[in-house]
Amino acid sequence: VRIETLCTGDELLTGLTADTNSRLFQTLVLERLGLTVRRSTVVGDVREDLIEVMHTLAARCDAVLVSGGLGPTTDDLTAECAATAAGVPLVESAEALAHLIARFARRGLELTPNNRRQALVPQGAEVVLNQEGSAPMFVLRLGACRFFFVPGVPREYRHLVELQVLPRLAALLAQRGETPVVRVLRLLKTVGLPESHLDARIRPLLAKYPGVTFGYRTHAPENHLKLLAHGATEAEARALLAQAEAECRPLLGAHLFGVDQETLPEVVNQALRTAGQTVSTVESCTGGLVGAALTTPAGASDVYPGGAITYASALKTQLAQVPPELIAQHTVVSAQVAEAMAAGIRRALHTTFGVATTGYAGPTGGDAVNPLGTVFVAVAREGRVVSERHLFIGDRERVRAFTTHAALDLLRRTQLET
Ligand code: ATP
Ligand code: MG
Repeated sequence: VRIETLCTGDELLTGLTADTNSRLFQTLVLERLGLTVRRSTVVGDVREDLIEVMHTLAARCDAVLVSGGLGPTTDDLTAECAATAAGVPLVESAEALAHLIARFARRGLELTPNNRRQALVPQGAEVVLNQEGSAPMFVLRLGACRFFFVPGVPREYRHLVELQVLPRLAALLAQRGETPVVRVLRLLKTVGLPESHLDARIRPLLAKYPGVTFGYRTHAPENHLKLLAHGATEAEARALLAQAEAECRPLLGAHLFGVDQETLPEVVNQALRTAGQTVSTVESCTGGLVGAALTTPAGASDVYPGGAITYASALKTQLAQVPPELIAQHTVVSAQVAEAMAAGIRRALHTTFGVATTGYAGPTGGDAVNPLGTVFVAVAREGRVVSERHLFIGDRERVRAFTTHAALDLLRRTQLET
């Protein structure tokens, strides 16, 4: 079964609204029916474009989901164009009209003639009332293709897709003798591994798992490996996924930090909590972003008592016990100072770990040895302190975000070793 989506609305072509409806449908259809949407088209509120694209889609698809343009305003052209494409007149649906009148009465409003337009559907269409809104959904055949016309308002769209469209598509599949394929997804999230290296490590598994689709997604500074396993039943797909995941894990090693919805701060928090450990922070160029990240997960106070933002050199000395001579000798953006900051805050706040950041986030700063974008992150623990130098490319916001991530990741790796 070939399915496509068609979204209408000038706002989708002028940068005002992103087409999230198609994305939702793509996800649902894939998860529930194992079908991939072949193409998604977006057109503006232009009659000739709408009619032309409906003809084109009718010729190549078994089913099309159309969203938007069913409202009462003059730019809502979908029903009219559908009727033209099918060569039928628009007719008033009695049940759609009754639904409209009832909705308006509930809100104490009178029905205006343009509202009444929403009860007009192409002759021969199946009308499905919309409990979340006033415009009905309708189903119309153009040639051999079924068109599902659904309002564009995301809440109404989701409601009708889940309750009305997906069951009809499932029935269509069954009628064609196509068994739905169940797909289950696992995202393996890595850090510090370029996409090409990730690909090289995983490639040997591809031939072994024809039932699994391996995909890569860059979510800078992270890279995610997407495993999509297919099966006739959910149990079959899950078993295959578990097997593929078990083989991927050792290939990713310590670069793998989490799965699916997990975030780096959550993973770090959880690891500290499980081990009964704590961390404190002292931040220069990140200005509190590491602390903000550590306090994002609920219950963070168990593992994170707090930290200091030491933007001025004097505060690095005052709050993190960094000797002024060390700063004079190496400058504030140096491994030595980062390490001293981390060790100092750890001592001052009596935590298991101390984390520090210092660097040139821009737009100015830097020197010949450490150009703009150079940052040092450090993590101290009992008897040992480690630091890493990074050179991040990009604007201030990006450098600060990447530094925060690097600090958390160094903490994660250091914690894993203990
Ligand atoms: P209405 O009765 O509200 O006019 P409609 O069926 O005519 O409903 P549109 O006018 O096209 O739908 O869109 C209604 C609202 O839904 C708009 O605010 C629009 O931004 C939003 N919307 C429309 N299409 C999409 C889409 N593909 N993705 C996300 N939002 C959308
Ligand atoms: Mg509208």
